[in-house]
Formats: sequence, C-alpha cells, structure tokens
Amino acid sequence: MAGRIKRRISEQLHEAAQAQQEVIVICPLCTREIPESEMESHHLIPKSKGGRDTEYLHRICHRQIHALFTETELARHYQSVEALLEHPEIASFVKWLANKPPDFYERATKSQRTRKR
Ligand SMILES: [Zn+2]
Ligand SMILES: [Zn+2]
Repeated sequence: MAGRIKRRISEQLHEAAQAQQEVIVICPLCTREIPESEMESHHLIPKSKGGRDTEYLHRICHRQIHALFTETELARHYQSVEALLEHPEIASFVKWLANKPPDFYERATKSQRTRKR
C-alpha cells in the first residue's frame, strides 16, 4: 500500500514539474536557490552506511559537509540538516554564503586534487 501511495505522489510531482518546466530547488543547508549546474545530491546517511535518503545541495555546500565530517561522523551525528547546522563551522559557512550569488562556487578547489575534471 505505502509503495503505491508513494508512486502516485511522485507521478504528481513529475506532472507538476513538466507543467511548470522550471522547478526551483532550495538548498536545505543555506536556504538559497540551487541552479541546476550546482546541484548535487547528498546522502544524509552515507550510502556506505546503508543510507538511502538524499537531499539536493549546492556543490559548494556539499563539499563543505564532506570536508568537515567523515562518513562515520555523518552517519552517527549528522543525519539531518538541522544537526549539520548546529555545528559552528557549518553555521558560519552558511552565514558567509548568504549573500553570495546562487551559482557561486569558490575556485579554492585548485589546492585539492581536481585533475579528473
Ligand atoms: Zn554527500
Ligand atoms: Zn547551499
């Protein structure tokens, strides 16, 4: 039963998405709009720990989470966006990001290994 209800909702969402064509996705971490080019999905509980639920986040927000926490920490303590926001580093990151444009992505990643791109 539950499965059938879920499917019906997702069908409705799909229709709504087609009708509007433009679906605005808000990042739960920084509450700013996510442009399609910056959208990444994050497993609240890491996939390696059996997590299935994902949230769409900005690439920059997503990187920040993984830069600060290990998968074990995420699985144990940060299974919700609320928990993440309680961390002072995340809180100040979000504050800092608040007045940046939605597609802002700091090119500080040069210091990391980004050869693959
Ligand atoms: Zn992630
Ligand atoms: Zn964000």
